[in-house]
Amino acid sequence: ATPTSIMVGTGRAAELGVLFRQGEALQALRDVAVVALDKTGTLTQGKPELTDFIAADGFAEIDVLGLVAAVEARSEHPIAAAIADAARLRGVALQQPEAFEAVPGYGVSARVGGRLVEVGADRFMEARGLSVAAFAEAAERLGHEGRTPLYAAIEGRLAAVIAVADAIKPSTPEAIRALKALGVEVAMVTGDNRRTAEAIAARLGIDTVVAEVLPDGKVEAIERLRAGGRKLAYVGDGINDAPALAAADVGLAIGTGTDIAIESAEVVLMSGDLRGVVNAIALSQATIRNIK
Ligand code: ADP
Ligand code: MG
Repeated sequence: ATPTSIMVGTGRAAELGVLFRQGEALQALRDVAVVALDKTGTLTQGKPELTDFIAADGFAEIDVLGLVAAVEARSEHPIAAAIADAARLRGVALQQPEAFEAVPGYGVSARVGGRLVEVGADRFMEARGLSVAAFAEAAERLGHEGRTPLYAAIEGRLAAVIAVADAIKPSTPEAIRALKALGVEVAMVTGDNRRTAEAIAARLGIDTVVAEVLPDGKVEAIERLRAGGRKLAYVGDGINDAPALAAADVGLAIGTGTDIAIESAEVVLMSGDLRGVVNAIALSQATIRNIK
């Protein structure tokens, strides 16, 4: 492409809220065969809410919620905010936790009033030698509903299964339909539970799902998606997405996301609206076609 056509193309994109930090990305986008998207905060709003709280036999819901929220009050994960908010809403007073520990991609733990409280994904409990089998059916149902099941243990005993749900952005379904209409494969990459991710992908018509990816595993996930030399664009907003944004053929960051994601991307979507990805690819195809 000529410098002039790239200037015109990136100028048009800017009017549509799509900022090209590098002009070459306009050209690279034309050849993209796969668009991989982070789920939380990219396809969804990134503000989960607590939807279910099922206490195990012998545990009182309000007590478990208080202990779990006391731990989550220390975490910066969006899931933590959902749980802490739910406790605040119920007027539960939170104790100061001790020995707080966050294991990225797994969960959090701390001592509250001397008791060990652990909260996180099934793999977090399993890594700590706790079976979640008692809640297998409940977790499966929650996952099918697109909710994320989490587990809480108190003093090494499974105390509750908790679910959070993160709403899909209103503009996402149309963006996915339009991407598929452009002929690209759409893939979801997420650290979330497999069943949850698959339920959300099914609602959106996304065929390829890479779920339960550890925070440092997103690059490996996209390397597999672009096997055979297919060009790949990655769309994300979080700290965990920065390496994938840099490794992709074209990285597109959500402008309302973290600074490190924006700095790692060639393209920034000024709003969180994924129709910006569609506009960027369509513009790229139009621009490059024009100058041939
Ligand atoms: P994502 O950004 O897709 O949520 P993460 O790697 O941040 O992926 O988290 C993966 C999973 O780890 C979450 O779905 C959740 O099950 C568990 N997890 C991580 N942090 C917490 C936390 N503070 N409280 C409860 N669960 C957590
Ligand atoms: Mg995200």
